[in-house]
Amino acid sequence: QPLDISGWTVLITGASSGFGWAAAWRFAELGCKLVLVARRTDRLRELAAEICTKYKEARVHCAPLDVCDVDKIESLPFMLPPEFAQVDILVNNAGLALGKLPVQDNVTANVLTMMQTNVSSLIVATATFSKGMVARGRGHIINIGSIAGHEAYANGSVYCATKHAVTAFTTAARHDLVGTPVRVTCISPGFAETEFSLVRFGNDTDKAAAVYSNLVSLSAKDIADQIVYVATRPAHVQIADIICWPTNQA
Ligand code: NDP
Repeated sequence: QPLDISGWTVLITGASSGFGWAAAWRFAELGCKLVLVARRTDRLRELAAEICTKYKEARVHCAPLDVCDVDKIESLPFMLPPEFAQVDILVNNAGLALGKLPVQDNVTANVLTMMQTNVSSLIVATATFSKGMVARGRGHIINIGSIAGHEAYANGSVYCATKHAVTAFTTAARHDLVGTPVRVTCISPGFAETEFSLVRFGNDTDKAAAVYSNLVSLSAKDIADQIVYVATRPAHVQIADIICWPTNQA
């Protein structure tokens, strides 16, 4: 019997695009309250308006912020309207890669941005929201890792390092939370066609398209399905990690 999460509050970072956007729709469909986090306020408002048009009972709150500003994440529970403040499911999804360069050419500013976005924010958000979950006796932390968190490849040293950190942190967090009802999951996708490659290649559409040219890539919806799948398993079932490849990705 799937877990009934209707009425639960789900906070999704990186909700303005890709996996986060698609996951918001899936959780809305299940009757969850949504807190949408990303930097692009207009995109969050657009998503909230679309969801509220389709689901008249939907409750959606936009919390535009840069997750690299970890002070803002820590203060978020105090800034949210009371009906959204008790987050039951945290989807740590915001993330990015910047460039594909050999180690000797790594750009320090990009290194710091990737570390802060993909790792520090996720760690701080987990600390910030897991306390309340433990106290209330229900909760789920869902971290979006990557195949780059299980394998390392040339010209991706920083991104691979950040996603290996996500994998390791998720495992450690799961150990820390054993004995509480809070579940911790890492979902590790392969190539998925979102805005990810556009961001990676500085909006170079040719380079971005080339990433997906030789395979049928995953869609954002494929990953949203995985996110909702783990969140709706019966309470005693904890999916630790899902590695989800496009069928013909080498
Ligand atoms: P998108 O680029 O489509 O979405 C990334 C999201 O992260 C956007 O909503 C963006 O919002 C948000 N984000 C980025 N930086 C920040 C920031 N500093 N503060 C707040 N929000 C931020 O990519 P995906 O949906 O594909 O990526 C989602 C996750 O999946 C990432 O962690 C990525 O590493 C991972 N992943 C992606 C794969 C792929 O092939 N697409 C494969 C494996 C993992 P905004 O710009 O508005 O702030």
